[in-house]
Amino acid sequence: MIYLDNAATTKPCHEAVEAVLKGLECFGNPSSLHSLGLEAENLLNEQREAVADAIGAQDKEIFFTSGATESSNTAIFGAFAAHGKRKRRIVTTSVEHPSVANPISKLEQQGCEVIRLSPDENGQISPKAVLDAVNEDTFLVSMMLVNNEVGAIFDVGGAFALIKKKYPQVVTHCDCVQGFMKIPFSVKKLGADLISLSGHKIYAPKGVGALYVKSGVHIPPFMLGGGQEKGFRSGTESVPLICGFGAAVRALSDKVEINLERARGVQAHLIEKCAENGGIAVNFAHGSPYITSISVDGLKSEVLLHFLEKKGIFVSSGSACSKGKKSSVIKEFRVPEKLSDSVLRISISAATTNEDIDALIGAVGEAQGSLARIKK
Ligand code: PLP
Repeated sequence: MIYLDNAATTKPCHEAVEAVLKGLECFGNPSSLHSLGLEAENLLNEQREAVADAIGAQDKEIFFTSGATESSNTAIFGAFAAHGKRKRRIVTTSVEHPSVANPISKLEQQGCEVIRLSPDENGQISPKAVLDAVNEDTFLVSMMLVNNEVGAIFDVGGAFALIKKKYPQVVTHCDCVQGFMKIPFSVKKLGADLISLSGHKIYAPKGVGALYVKSGVHIPPFMLGGGQEKGFRSGTESVPLICGFGAAVRALSDKVEINLERARGVQAHLIEKCAENGGIAVNFAHGSPYITSISVDGLKSEVLLHFLEKKGIFVSSGSACSKGKKSSVIKEFRVPEKLSDSVLRISISAATTNEDIDALIGAVGEAQGSLARIKK
């Protein structure tokens, strides 16, 4: 099996699997006052420290959630609950993941004014463009760090710095899911008040993530109940999944730079092989090396995806969340109309090799021969 769909999810690392088992065995409720509860609480705090350290945050600024979707919903609806009575404008990008885009659209239906900034011809949104969209009526700016469909990296730190200088009261949120443990960043450099993180993109299990809430930033809780996570996120913490999350973070913590360099090499090899093939367009490859958007001229994404699957090679058409729906994000990144039905997202892991890429390009070559009849 050659798995090249790591932006959708990753295979859990053995450290995470072992930690999940440990978390299952340590079955006490972290809120219980007896020793079993204390043991579980201690385990949680160890993981909180690992996640906090990875982004240069304080432990008390990390709240565990069920994943980035919950984190971003908490951030966006929380910012609205805190400030939306007095202010109405939200500034965001036109290429956010649905876990950000949809809560914002919901607030738009409720009367918020939403400014969606499109990437320029280089796939960038300049900090100045973001600042220019913010006004006195703005309560939230939400901007992703790494786009999940093409890998574009936005200068979130630059944008948030300008905004905080002129409008310090605006809440800044960043979906860092595709950058976390892949592209080095710290909360300080990013200047975000709120950051969404997910476990399953970094070799941890699904169903766990975190929201960073900068000390001093107050948003109300989204989940009400027993008051876990200092009252910010009620519901008994999933100790096993959180243990898996923490273990995956620790396993990567001193490898971010090395893995990034490696990923750059594998992406360069992919680009070279696409050029050699002649019929494969590289739509976007100047962002995160972990994600490369390509189009195989004349072959529909889904047909090719299933052809590759039969050969044991797993890729994605656009993003996993689009489930075959034509992606508006691809259009926003100015992929020519004639290539937009043929987009494949190749998303590599720290373990992907040049040989994996050779196998992919070889199989695409076979498809170009045998699937020729379905040319558009
Ligand atoms: N944000 C981005 C950029 C993503 O790629 C994803 C997952 O595809 C999410 C958010 C959602 O994360 P989760 O599955 O943890 O809710």
